[in-house]
Amino acid sequence: DISRLSRTGKRPIRVSFEFFPPKTQEMETSLWQAIERLAPIGPSFVSVTYGAGGSTRERTHATVARMLRETCLKPAAHLTCVAATKEQVDEVVRAYYDVGVRHIVALRGDPTGGIGSTYEPHPGGYETSTALVAGIRRIGDFEISVSAYPEKHPESAGIDADIDVLKAKIDAGATRAITQFFFENTAYLRYLDRVRAAGIDIPIVPGIVPVENFRQTAAFAKKTGAHVPQWLADRFDGLEDDAATRRLIAAAVAAEQVLDLVDHGVEDFHFYTMNKPELVFAICHLLGLRPQPAQQAA
Ligand code: FAD
Repeated sequence: DISRLSRTGKRPIRVSFEFFPPKTQEMETSLWQAIERLAPIGPSFVSVTYGAGGSTRERTHATVARMLRETCLKPAAHLTCVAATKEQVDEVVRAYYDVGVRHIVALRGDPTGGIGSTYEPHPGGYETSTALVAGIRRIGDFEISVSAYPEKHPESAGIDADIDVLKAKIDAGATRAITQFFFENTAYLRYLDRVRAAGIDIPIVPGIVPVENFRQTAAFAKKTGAHVPQWLADRFDGLEDDAATRRLIAAAVAAEQVLDLVDHGVEDFHFYTMNKPELVFAICHLLGLRPQPAQQAA
């Protein structure tokens, strides 16, 4: 399909989109507007996050179930093992299986005290993301995606320790990793080299965050261990009260990032949409992706 070739004209590009479950009626409306706008692009899958400590269990389920009922998208449900027993987590997994969901993004989750505090497994719960992956595998024939950290997870001793954990998750049944967002492509490409050298051959899909709001993104990056380079701060400098220009800069930054990754051979992208479709739609267009009539109609 020529419309799905990269700007080099040689390789296909695949994308996936991440959304968060809405809290209010107003947020629900804007989420579904975002889905309507992005669905015709024909993503490989769309994922819905799970709130810290399982706080969005019902809302994540409701969103994923509605995607299955009302669209022809393939939804993936995020799931963590924080603050829940194995039985409670298994029940969530079975409920997904029963409604027809076949893809789970399996995560340990952040400590209940927030990022930066010490993680304590729930008594009777899955202790690690690896144990969670194995648990999901036992319940049903799911596709299982997991996290990866090109700039290392804040709690981890180093990249090698992270790669060991990634290997364990794959041995337990994970088939794809999605990365934490990053701004320096060299960090991702170096990480990819190390992962491949360690014998890991599953897709390590870069997670791309369009920087709609620099201050907010920088604050979040600090917590997650993603490095915010000075050149990025410089690009948004002085635009605190100028949302329109910020959006144009954000589009330019994201375009530069994804097209450089394409030039380095990357074919899959996972977009953290923040439930806002416009920037992501534009970047997909740049990547050569066009709305597909069948899905548009659906
Ligand atoms: P793991 O992969 O299990 O661990 C990450 C790294 O931390 C490991 O590689 C290891 O080196 C180190 N580590 C972990 N445990 C220990 C330990 N006990 N001792 C030493 N080192 C350790 N969070 C949510 O709450 N909901 C979501 O929907 C969600 N979606 C996400 C999607 C993606 C693509 C990513 C990248 C993250 C997401 N997160 C989400 C955040 C994630 O839950 C946190 O980053 C959490 O702190 C780690 O979970 P994990 O499964 O990534 O950890």
